[in-house]
Amino acid sequence: DCLRELFDPADRRYLYPFINCTNCGPRYTIIDDIPYDRPGTSMRHFKMCAACQSEYDDPANRRFHAQPNACAECGPHVSLYTSRREPVDTDNPVKKAADLIRQGQIVAVKGLGGYHLVADARNNEAVLRLRKRKMREEKPLAVMSPDLEHIRTYARVEPAEEKLLTSIQRPIVLLPKKTPGTIAEAVAPRNKYWGVMLPYTPLHYLLLNQGFAALVMTSANLTDEPIAIDNGDAFERLADIADYFLVLNRDIYLRSDDSIVRHSAGQTRYIRRSRGFVPVPVFLDRTVPSILSCGAELKNTICITKNDKAFLSQHIGDLENKITLDFFQLTVDHLQRILQIRPEIIACDMHPDYLSTRFAKEQKNTRLIEVQHHHAHIVSCMAEHRLEGEVIGLSFDGTGYGSDGAVWGGEVLVAGAGQFERVAHLAYVPMPGSAAAVKEPWRMAVSYLRDAFGDAFWDLDLPVLKQNDSQKLKIMAEMIQKGINCPSTSSLGRLFDGVAAIAGIRNRVNFEGQAAMELEMLAADDIDSIYDFEWLTGTEDHIRILPAPIIQGVVEDVQNGLSISEISIKFHKTLIALFSEICAGVRRDRELNRVVLSGGCFQNSILLSGMIQELASRDFEVFAHERVPANDGGISLGQAMVAAAVLGS
Ligand code: ZN
Ligand code: FE
Repeated sequence: DCLRELFDPADRRYLYPFINCTNCGPRYTIIDDIPYDRPGTSMRHFKMCAACQSEYDDPANRRFHAQPNACAECGPHVSLYTSRREPVDTDNPVKKAADLIRQGQIVAVKGLGGYHLVADARNNEAVLRLRKRKMREEKPLAVMSPDLEHIRTYARVEPAEEKLLTSIQRPIVLLPKKTPGTIAEAVAPRNKYWGVMLPYTPLHYLLLNQGFAALVMTSANLTDEPIAIDNGDAFERLADIADYFLVLNRDIYLRSDDSIVRHSAGQTRYIRRSRGFVPVPVFLDRTVPSILSCGAELKNTICITKNDKAFLSQHIGDLENKITLDFFQLTVDHLQRILQIRPEIIACDMHPDYLSTRFAKEQKNTRLIEVQHHHAHIVSCMAEHRLEGEVIGLSFDGTGYGSDGAVWGGEVLVAGAGQFERVAHLAYVPMPGSAAAVKEPWRMAVSYLRDAFGDAFWDLDLPVLKQNDSQKLKIMAEMIQKGINCPSTSSLGRLFDGVAAIAGIRNRVNFEGQAAMELEMLAADDIDSIYDFEWLTGTEDHIRILPAPIIQGVVEDVQNGLSISEISIKFHKTLIALFSEICAGVRRDRELNRVVLSGGCFQNSILLSGMIQELASRDFEVFAHERVPANDGGISLGQAMVAAAVLGS
């Protein structure tokens, strides 16, 4: 209805960028306090004109008590500025902004939950400039198109994806690229997918309506910082990135990034659950005490439980700097205020150095419950599916603090909400340089090669050994041998990195998980063979899965000139076969038939659908995430549920 009015020359809100009604418009990002009434929102600064007021007061009107109700007469406006804060003289700022974008300029556009940086998605040079200025070298950028027809010129849209794209939440949906397509490759290099969304505010419609097939619409921030929302803040932080600013005078009180979803293995999978979905709760199978859980370090979200509901926050980001930590604290306060609770129980990760853990420990008059990272992953998925009792949990990710202080990530747990047992995991290998090994997968390659071949690895004929400076390689080998700055890891994410580096994909990454992602993207459609695998039961009561036979197989294939695509699919299939075998063994010993899949590695759709298929064919009941992300964005839910179970016992 609003869209029709927006483009109706006879309507009094014709082309008004803030048209809304009770069925649409902003809410979460403009609320300051409850009750949700105009004085509790950033619309409090705008006094309704007589016409708007009469709509607002009329129970029969679509705008009855629509808090952000406004029109050009009485409501907010957009205006255009240069990056030096000089107003641009124009009677049509939206059209002028569109002209500038068409000329290759980068415009910061204020939206619903923050600023976007906008560029013409067909202009490769503009996209590259945006990347350079934003210091975002290769991570995919989202695009927005006016309608499905335009999207179909560059991406494949199946009915399930069409439903997601057109849903009122308007998330970014990952869509397989069409080649050749109409979008600059620099938007998402070395990726099989585009991240695409449809317009979700009237301003977006007005902008896209200026004849664009697709615009890059990426969160306006420097890499690692939260999205800018405040006008002054935006001018300050984005002055070196944007050429122009399309601003509006309706304040955003709480930032909320665009949500990201994909359709995979028959279901909607959240990669980032934020705008549009927050603060809709996850409904629990029972009433739990009020708990605040602080999430992990990366892709942080927090969660507050109230009765039988768990409210997850919007995406907060990577808690690695002051500005993100401030946003974290603001979100904690805000969510407590609008839910009207002050939980006396706080759950957090076991990692002593996470800023979220430190925050939890600083709170006074609260009971603190620390939760193991991979346990929280599994329990978050159990909570979604309302599973009671014990399950087999496959908790696969890049990094998480283990109960023994090592870096876990390739874990098979027998878990209930209140406790877990580690029944199998990838055998430990050293992680040379600790955090540096995450940024430089070649370090992990050296570690796995040494683990698999001993000192004989020096003689291997591999690109990863030739491309890297021999002096550096020697230092790495020495660090490993002497155990200097080499924490032990059982991470599956690192195994992906190591295999990617050995297969010759890349030695360094520009963003977390890039090497693993590219390995997945390059995988061939199908191949029947897999690598050998092996595990030890030994004296310890849990199984240790040896990476060596897999690494030896990969090396042999690289030396025999097998393509990366074939190596990749063999590697994926090996993991699927191997972990299905492990699950079968656990079922025999423990009489458990439910398998829960969680952790960031399950964003890999080959691994996700392969595990689901293989386990189902062995008559397991399989559960994967459908309501919160499998990555660390979903972990706060698990933390809260573990804490509830611990309290209950
Ligand atoms: Zn409406
Ligand atoms: Fe994790």
